[in-house]
Amino acid sequence: MPVKNIALLGSTGSIGVNTMNVVAENPEQFRVVAISAGSNGTLLIEQAKRFKPEAVAIWDKNQEAAIKSALTGLNIKVFSGEDGLETVAGWPSARQVVSAIVGAAGLKPTLTAIRAGKDIALANKECLVMAGELFMEEIAKSGVTLIPVDSEHSAIFQALHNGQTGPIETPLTNERKNEIDHLTLTASGGPFHGWTKEQLQHVTKSQALAHPNWSMGRKISIDSATMMNKGLEVIEAYYLFGVPAGQIEVVVHPESIIHSMVSFYDGSVLAQLGEPDMRTPIAVAISWPKRVATSVDNLDLVKIGRLNFFPAPSAEDFPCLHLAFKALATGGSAPATLNAANEIAVAAFLDEKIEFLDIPKIIALTLDEMTVAKPNSIDEVMAVDNMARSKALELVLQIQGKNRLS
Ligand code: NAD
Ligand code: MG
Repeated sequence: MPVKNIALLGSTGSIGVNTMNVVAENPEQFRVVAISAGSNGTLLIEQAKRFKPEAVAIWDKNQEAAIKSALTGLNIKVFSGEDGLETVAGWPSARQVVSAIVGAAGLKPTLTAIRAGKDIALANKECLVMAGELFMEEIAKSGVTLIPVDSEHSAIFQALHNGQTGPIETPLTNERKNEIDHLTLTASGGPFHGWTKEQLQHVTKSQALAHPNWSMGRKISIDSATMMNKGLEVIEAYYLFGVPAGQIEVVVHPESIIHSMVSFYDGSVLAQLGEPDMRTPIAVAISWPKRVATSVDNLDLVKIGRLNFFPAPSAEDFPCLHLAFKALATGGSAPATLNAANEIAVAAFLDEKIEFLDIPKIIALTLDEMTVAKPNSIDEVMAVDNMARSKALELVLQIQGKNRLS
């Protein structure tokens, strides 16, 4: 396999660092030619010194000068701001872009990469939740390959395409779709699996951040605790594979060993198993259709002994999953609203401005308040995103006001 040039959006995050690890383990296969970060200039500098990309970009413009000075003499171009992210996304020598910025900020640079003809390894699920239809149209138009990094979608992707060396259809052709009875997304259940609404009332930020199986960024860790992560993943699966929502099932599997499954109409169920370690799906996404080595341990099923499965939690105890299904059924701008309100609510919870159970309340109220329309362009999606953020923020302020009064 000739060396493959990769650009990495969000190199300093959890997925970004894991991607760098996979690349470092396979220097003959991959070279990271461009990287970007939001505001962690220190780690960006460290990564640039170690991996010697051709370009780096920092979203926070204030850090550009310091980064330039730290990288003097290394022949690395330094960019900043939104333009800088776009430059990395379309970096000429890159063949594939790993999209690993968290949240809505990842949408525009990922689209830039698609339009520049880069294959995409997609970790940023928010892109698909916000703008699924338009995003998939862009993929089809530019003819690039889209491979999911999210472990559940990687599992489904592998179950559908293992051994396939020809082009990958995203979404699936009708013929392939007809072979599928349903998709099962597994969910660990997060730190609060089995808890009731009453028990969830006053959980703290550190309790919510303590995921039992996966080590991830802060936003997705809270999403896992509320089960919104699984909701976003249902929407992600819907757009990625083109399978109707009624054929996407969620099952709680606390060990996170089976990463998801496809049930076919002949009665076969294909699953992908592995340690809960993102280096595996990242390696799959950047090396497809081949496989590369990682230092992730193979499973020891005897040691694991038992795998458990439970139905998805009730809408009463974990409303977020159900809000996501509802937004998907509503369609149009509803998923973009859901995503924006969730980002605001999660940030407010992380800032300790609201309680855990305020998160679904804010999302539900924002969904109720926003009119639903079908966005016809990315600008219209961004307008929905902005408006939903303002509404959600108002709700955060109202809750804060009440807390101060009581
Ligand atoms: P993280 O918070 O650890 O990292 C986010 C990265 O995005 C960082 O490099 C940060 O600098 C950058 N960033 C943040 N805001 C930015 C902005 N405004 N502009 C430019 N860059 C910005 O997040 P993560 O856990 O690595 O998750 C990244 C994405 O991957 C998310 O969409 C998440 O849902 C998805 N994902 C993550 C995991 C996981 O295990 N961490 C698993 C599946 C999917
Ligand atoms: Mg996942």
